[in-house]
Amino acid sequence: TNTILLASRPQGAPTEAQFRFETRELPALQSGEVLLKTRYVSVDPYMRGRMSSAKSYVEPFKVGEPIAGGVVAEVVESQAENLPVGRLVVGNLPWQEFSVAQAKMLQPLPAEGKAPASYYLGLLGMTGLTAYFGLLDICEPQEGETVVVSGAAGAVGMVVGQLAKIKGARVIGTAGTDEKVAYLKELGFDEAINYKTADVPKALAAAAPNGVDCYFDNVGGPITDAVYDLLNKHARIAVCGQISTYNATEVPTGPRPEGKLLKTSSKLQGFIVSDYHSRWPEGSRQLAEWYEQGKLQFEETVTEGFDQIPAAFLGLFEGDNTGKAVVKVA
Ligand code: NDP
Repeated sequence: TNTILLASRPQGAPTEAQFRFETRELPALQSGEVLLKTRYVSVDPYMRGRMSSAKSYVEPFKVGEPIAGGVVAEVVESQAENLPVGRLVVGNLPWQEFSVAQAKMLQPLPAEGKAPASYYLGLLGMTGLTAYFGLLDICEPQEGETVVVSGAAGAVGMVVGQLAKIKGARVIGTAGTDEKVAYLKELGFDEAINYKTADVPKALAAAAPNGVDCYFDNVGGPITDAVYDLLNKHARIAVCGQISTYNATEVPTGPRPEGKLLKTSSKLQGFIVSDYHSRWPEGSRQLAEWYEQGKLQFEETVTEGFDQIPAAFLGLFEGDNTGKAVVKVA
């Protein structure tokens, strides 16, 4: 099968040179295993972390080995009773056109689900759950409060904003193009700021005249510095991602926020979606319900073709995607 390997570890921004296409033999199917045909591949910012050798919450990818991540695939041969041929599954799988996996490591998609299969990589999968637990468990927005979300037009951010609206909050998002800003307004965000063209501290202060009660941080850097100047008493900050620093070659520096947290008795908490693993069923059920009731919308940027996976991944750092970036393979 065709596979995409990590060719080398990036210094700074990753490029196409970090990826290598190869053909590999698949092992014969053992009992309890299935042969899978890849349908959709998820490209995610966290994979940048796995491309480097630095210690983190998931093991680094190995140089010369396939890159792996969220994949929706179809069972095309089965040695597992519970996964018949034709069944769609989601799992952590290699960037390959076909793969062999143990059935117990895969999650079957509901046969009668109303959402498109690729949504199990987004709204009803990893990124939706990240929005759900980070916002509802850590930020706990209350009716009438002001919520800021950075990276607002991305997979996680667009769900965070809508969830905050469901909870009755006033929602402000930041994103990198005027099209994304217009899209966020359509989604129901009260205010949206193009951080590439606006004076961010000024625009945020104008958009949040009553200060900020909750901040869902997807990006870090100067946007985050500006939000910290607007915190209200007992503000809650969920540190979800820091994409503005993922390609940094030097230790990122900036204002020290601790004094602001102290003066406002604010809570700052980082989290990883897998911290909530035992509650994922609850989160998926609730997200699916809101989606089916029309309370949650979802958006995807779908790139076509197995050979386009590296480009779709690299595009995350250029803001090429609105909503979830996925690659349709077959
Ligand atoms: P997105 O769909 O948001 O894609 C990434 C987006 O980040 C781009 O579209 C781009 O949008 C924006 N971006 C890129 N570079 C910068 C920059 N220098 N400054 C500001 N924005 C930038 O990805 P996800 O929704 O999947 O992930 C969002 C964040 O959440 C990431 O930081 C990710 O690592 C993190 N995450 C954390 C998880 C956890 O468990 N803690 C789980 C999943 C994701 P724009 O046009 O606006 O610049």
